[in-house]
Amino acid sequence: MNANETATFGDNDVLIVVDVQNDFCPAGALAVPRGDEVVPIVNRMAARFRNVVVTQDWHPRGHLSFASSHPGRQPFETIAAAYGSQVLWPDHCVQATAGAAFHPALQVPHAGLIVRKGMDRGIDSYSAFYENDRTTATGLVGYLRERGFTRVFLAGLALDFCVRYSAEDARREGFAVFVVEDGCRGIDIGGSVAAARGSFAALGIPCLQMREFATG
Ligand SMILES: [Zn+2]
Repeated sequence: MNANETATFGDNDVLIVVDVQNDFCPAGALAVPRGDEVVPIVNRMAARFRNVVVTQDWHPRGHLSFASSHPGRQPFETIAAAYGSQVLWPDHCVQATAGAAFHPALQVPHAGLIVRKGMDRGIDSYSAFYENDRTTATGLVGYLRERGFTRVFLAGLALDFCVRYSAEDARREGFAVFVVEDGCRGIDIGGSVAAARGSFAALGIPCLQMREFATG
């Protein structure tokens, strides 16, 4: 860590590390291109925070978001779920499998909370705050409010899905939100990275490089 990275964020700031799991890294079941590159950046960023939350995609076998649960359908196709449009994915982050484990080089021992999501077999959850039906809460809003956090910083995987939806929900819940852009990588299907950037701009969510968070 160089001198510019020793500044710590404050008691009202929290870093949310999104889904830095083996299945989202190269050789994983749903690999985000260069997803493992976020690990050292997230580690360095997390070291500057007293308050860190980690999220973990955590699906039961046979989850609705798995293409394998829909005979004849292929990964990356879209289906109409009861709650709306749902992209189908390869089987990934199945509870208690090696793929669902955090990347082995992820170092956030001081994280105060692990939020698991996507545990309902019939509902996917991109956001760390609300499942894809947009009404089922994970409880994270209550945790952040009760802890008095006002600024939410996000890094992890994937920029255009779980980071995007988490950032949007945090903003809508009234938190100041910042995306640590070099601490994220995208899947980018159907222009989803551009869509995420457009959404961040529309909602007033800055996307910054880690070095730009100079003094917190
Ligand atoms: Zn998932």
